[in-house]
Amino acid sequence: MHGVPVSGGIAIGRAHLLSRTGLEVAHYVIPRKQAAAEIARFEAALATVQQELKELRAQIPPNAPQEFGAFLDLHLMILNDATLSKAPRDIIATERCNAEWALKVQTDALLEQFNEIEDGYLRERKSDVIQVAERVMKNLLGQPGYSPVSDSGEGLILVAHDLSPADVIQFKQHRFASFITDLGGTTSHTAIVARSLNIPSVVALHHARQLIVENDLLIVDGTLGMVVVDPDPHTLEEYRQRQHQWELERKKLRRLRDTHAVTLDRVAVELQANIELPEDVGRARESGAAGIGLFRTEFLFLNRDDSPGEDEQFEAYRKVVRGMNGLPVTIRTYDLGADKQVNPDRAAVASALGLRAIRLSLNEPDMFLVQLRAILRASHYGKTKILVPMLMSVPEINQTLGHVARARQDLDDRRVPYDKGIEIGSMIEIPAAALALRAFIRKLAFLSIGTNDLIQYTLAIDRTDDTVSHLYDPLHPAVLRLIAHVIKTASAAGKPIAVCGEMAGDPQLTRLLLGFGLRQFSMHPARLLEVKQQILRSNLGKIGQQAKKMLRTEDPDKLHSLLAKLNA
Ligand code: PEP
Ligand code: MG
Repeated sequence: MHGVPVSGGIAIGRAHLLSRTGLEVAHYVIPRKQAAAEIARFEAALATVQQELKELRAQIPPNAPQEFGAFLDLHLMILNDATLSKAPRDIIATERCNAEWALKVQTDALLEQFNEIEDGYLRERKSDVIQVAERVMKNLLGQPGYSPVSDSGEGLILVAHDLSPADVIQFKQHRFASFITDLGGTTSHTAIVARSLNIPSVVALHHARQLIVENDLLIVDGTLGMVVVDPDPHTLEEYRQRQHQWELERKKLRRLRDTHAVTLDRVAVELQANIELPEDVGRARESGAAGIGLFRTEFLFLNRDDSPGEDEQFEAYRKVVRGMNGLPVTIRTYDLGADKQVNPDRAAVASALGLRAIRLSLNEPDMFLVQLRAILRASHYGKTKILVPMLMSVPEINQTLGHVARARQDLDDRRVPYDKGIEIGSMIEIPAAALALRAFIRKLAFLSIGTNDLIQYTLAIDRTDDTVSHLYDPLHPAVLRLIAHVIKTASAAGKPIAVCGEMAGDPQLTRLLLGFGLRQFSMHPARLLEVKQQILRSNLGKIGQQAKKMLRTEDPDKLHSLLAKLNA
């Protein structure tokens, strides 16, 4: 199967299906005299799941989040509730259907009722009911249960129809070999978080969830975006060798960690890391990053019912600032909305053109001020900068700066220390901002190009929509001209300019960006050493002319061949 590659490398392992699309089961009638045996089969499945959950409960590692225990207790309660444990037996007896079907009918009826519950918290327990029912179902179908806390996930390849960024964040706590999905684009937030897991993954496979069976042996080629199902021994052997090769190369790259990123003609380049959670600081440090160029704070707001308060946010930001030990940390104010909803069940889903990022912040000033105060407080503990997403106009810049002034005043009133010289910068990720750059240069201390959104909005391609992901093109002449224009204009004005979108982490584009004059890159830590290697092998003297030539080219084939020449 072919999809869109997200994260390089090769994984070989067994498929584990994540069912999000309801319980897919067959329905058949059983002879009256077999009803008792069918009920016994259902009871045996319940007993096995009960045992599984209890064992998991006992195995929870001491350092696991507290919720794990409560989570499993809740699942045991649901399992033992008559609505799930008894009702299906009655259905088997009266309707003489198979146990799977009885369980499905009862679960569907239960879920219907959940939809009608007014209380948001209770309504959300629906997903727990689904998980318990699926566990019983898998057991009935003779498939082993999936253990959310054990370490046995190492050889597992998750196969899902779709995952949200919130789902993937949860996976950060477990070890999987790889994951693949039917939906998704390469710069969707799901893919970006996946990249930070540093495991090979492929999205936009279309039918993987339907065609792959639990426990199938899979090869995931995260570089080519290919999945091989049930490979023959020859293919398997070849991929084991490629996997080995890949690991050797990674080992070699790790030696570059402490090497300065300098071109052959001695021009220094700054390579920083993008992170999503405070725990990612370790990976950023391991990669040898010169700082955090983008901390996507919105991930602190996901997978929960409330939004984090000032103290909680402050602790999270301070953890990153302290963790980076004097290196600069660029904290982006939350970019919620679009595909990162605080509460997807309750909030109306804002589109990519809707109330997202700074628009949402300016619409909810109280929530924004809480975050600004928390960031300012963290700035007392190390070099911190504030980065604002999706700014587009002068009034928005002025309002944002007004809120920062207000947050500073609040802290002054409370006599709380913060860095009075803290810099405020803007993402350049809307074409309007790139074209009307002067005001941004005048009013802000630094700029960072978000190529993911800049491409999305320039080409009118929804970055989360896999039906148009083939049209998403970083090499579109309009995109290249906007990026080159922003780098050139900002540099000429002496304004620090970085790129923090996925383009910054693509070694195929490193020389092109260098040729446009870029000297500051921020990317996922997993990408940093490969980009550094490319910089170490580059000679700026030659690159500038070639990059200029690319800017004058509109033919895609010619552009690709010029890029290949640039990288040769
Ligand atoms: C971008 O748009 O390129 C960017 C870095 O921000 P995000 O991917 O979080 O939208
Ligand atoms: Mg963006």
